[in-house]
Amino acid sequence: MSRAEHHAWIGLGSNLDGPREHVARALEELDRLPLTRRVAASRLYASRPVGPADQPDYVNAVAQLATRLSPLALLDQLQALEQRHGRVRGRRWGPRTLDLDLLLYDDRRLALPRLTLPHPEMTRRAFVLVPLAELAPSLTLDGQPLARLAAGLDRDGLAPVLPTGG
Ligand code: ATP
Ligand code: MG
Ligand code: MG
Repeated sequence: MSRAEHHAWIGLGSNLDGPREHVARALEELDRLPLTRRVAASRLYASRPVGPADQPDYVNAVAQLATRLSPLALLDQLQALEQRHGRVRGRRWGPRTLDLDLLLYDDRRLALPRLTLPHPEMTRRAFVLVPLAELAPSLTLDGQPLARLAAGLDRDGLAPVLPTGG
């Protein structure tokens, strides 16, 4: 196996059935996907829901992976992991036990029915850009450093999750 390693960035989110545990466990599980290792993980953040407001707040994080999987093979693995966390697809942007979005894969651009890269909503979402900029402030998107893109977003309702004692 000599396929090259690629850099992938994953946005994690949960707001059901112990969101902090779902996200923390998924961060470990991402490190065990086939042909993949986790290079870095952001802190956990609490955020208010986008879309329907009648749902619990979210816990979010971002992970950096090095992978030899193709973008679609990685998406297959992410969706299988969502399923193992009991993800049920209901209304758009409704509550979920685990959401794993592929944010960036190298500097690849794709517009497939199953996969758009970069993730089309990421530059509008503080709960994505703030943890991503924490890991990679100088990474650029459309020529703009992530730290600058993150600084331009409304952070209302976004805060690091404090570690639980003990
Ligand atoms: P959003 O994508 O706006 O964050 P969501 O995460 O709630 O919304 P999902 O229900 O998780 O949306 O996914 C809907 C579909 O989006 C999936 O079936 C998947 O094939 C597709 N999709 C397209 N691009 C991506 C991407 N970059 N990462 C993950 N899924 C994607
Ligand atoms: Mg999502
Ligand atoms: Mg998703």
